[in-house]
Parts: sequence; structure tokens; C-alpha cells
Amino acid sequence: MKYVYGPIPSRRLGKSLGVSPIPKKACNFSCVYCQVGRTDMMMNSRRTFFPLEEIINELEQVLKLNENLDVISVVGEGEPTLYLQLGKLIDEIHRISDKPVAVITNSALLYDPQVQTEIGKADIVLPTLDAYDEASFRKINRPHGSLEFKKVLEGLIEFSHSFQGELWLEIMLMKDINDDLSSLEKYQEILKKIKYNRLYLNTPVRPPAELNINVVSEERMNEAVKLLGGTSISSLSSGCFFSEIKDDYEAILSIIKRHPMNQHEIEGFLKSRKTQNIDSIIQELKNDESIETVNYKGFITFRVK
Ligand code: SF4
Repeated sequence: MKYVYGPIPSRRLGKSLGVSPIPKKACNFSCVYCQVGRTDMMMNSRRTFFPLEEIINELEQVLKLNENLDVISVVGEGEPTLYLQLGKLIDEIHRISDKPVAVITNSALLYDPQVQTEIGKADIVLPTLDAYDEASFRKINRPHGSLEFKKVLEGLIEFSHSFQGELWLEIMLMKDINDDLSSLEKYQEILKKIKYNRLYLNTPVRPPAELNINVVSEERMNEAVKLLGGTSISSLSSGCFFSEIKDDYEAILSIIKRHPMNQHEIEGFLKSRKTQNIDSIIQELKNDESIETVNYKGFITFRVK
């Protein structure tokens, strides 16, 4: 599968089938916490990376095998609003499926009226807001040179008031970067201007692009929830990974290509498929030169290089 992956268990969205219309690491940010590593295709102009028909044909095939879904998510290992056909893609997904369509975005292009119109076709938009000023924007998101925090924030605020669907905002909190009281108070002020249905507070649970990035303590996360409202993503449980691909190894590859998995998740996934040789598959993953293993917070995490 080139464009469609999963379904994967999403703590916010449930059983989510992912559609990725962009190449790996095509993004206008290079976030310090990014779970797919540093951005190597930094860009801020929208392109038709792949033909829309190819993506929809593949999705149609996968949908025949997966009826039990909660949502179809347009998401990638980069920023999906960079896909020039995003609006048509959402229209086409609605044509072939009655599942809600969610788009996960870093909010960078929401200042663009065309992007607002296109992403506005989704049922759920999950924008991220990690920064509260230009300095924190540069430090956390490391954006494309043409992006300014003020413009990005104004775009997010404007879109939030015009969007007719569900807007679920996320803030990524990192220890000693943006989890102090002064930062939280700045988010508090900004949140007053955004119209959202849900707020999720997250912290990098998977290996980040920069290894000196750390998760916030549970105590600090609780304080943030108290001050900002919303829900801590770590308090939500996720289900099991799932794949229609028959071969166990190929099934894991198809998931970790887009979504890193740690050893326990892989074991759980293989057990759910009643696989016998779990240890040898994990050893094979460790020996595979196309796979990177990262030891993060005591867990070995696997992701495709
Ligand atoms: S976290 Fe998202 S927005 Fe940030 S660099 Fe990674 S893909 Fe881009």
C-alpha cells in the first residue's frame, strides 16, 4: 500500500484508517518532537505530489476489506495541507465512504483562504498549536523561513470561527520547553481567541526528532489540564493495531512506515493475529537495515528510516 495505512488505534479518533497524500517528511515545519525525524523536504508551497485517482483507487480497495472503522484520517509523515488536491481528496473520500473524514494539520497554512475552504470540507479538523510567540515557534516548530507565528495564529483563529465541523485542538507540551507556568498562561490567553470543540494536551511519547526532548511529568500535565482545560492524551487508552495484510512482517512494515511502534505494541499486534514466532519477527526487525530502532524511555521503538 502506498497511500493508505492502518487502521491504527488513535487515542483521539478511535479506529482510524490513514490516508497520506504527501511524501515522507514533506513539511513546512521541522518540529523538535516530530516522531518521523527531522524534515528533509522542507517546503511551503502546495503540490500535487501524487495523482488523486491513484490515492482514491487504493482507498476504495482497502475500504472493501475494512468496514469496521471509526474515521478516515488524512494525515501523513508531513503536512497534509501541502497536498494541492486536498479539497478534492476530501470530496472523493466522502463520495466513496460514509465515515467521517478527519484532517490532522500543523495549522501553518490555515491563513490561506484556499486551504481554509478545502480543509473546511472535513468533518473533523485536528490542528496543532505548540507555540505562543515567534521565539517559541522557531524553537519548537522550526518552521519554513516564510512562515511567521502571528500570521499562522491569525489563520488558525479565523478558520476556527468559520469552520462548521468539529475542531479538536492539540498542544504538545515538553519538559522545560513550554511546560512552565508563564508558557501555560500564554496558551491560556491564546485559547480565549480560538473556537474549538475539544482541547487535547499531549507530550512526546514516541522518540522525537531531537533526543534531548522530554515528556512532561504527570503532575505538570495535571496542572496544565487544570489551567487550560481539555484532556491529557496520555489519559486516553488506545486499542490494538490492525492490518488486512496477511504477511505479519509486511503488515508491521506497512504500519511503521507511517506510525512508529514500540516493542510492546508490536508484540500485542502479533498476539492479536495469533502469530507463533513473535521473537523471531522482532529479531528480524532489529536486523533489518531499512528500519531504525530507537531506545526511548526504556522502550525500543521501530520506525522505517
Ligand atoms: S510533527 Fe508534524 S508538523 Fe511537525 S515536523 Fe513532524 S510532520 Fe511536520
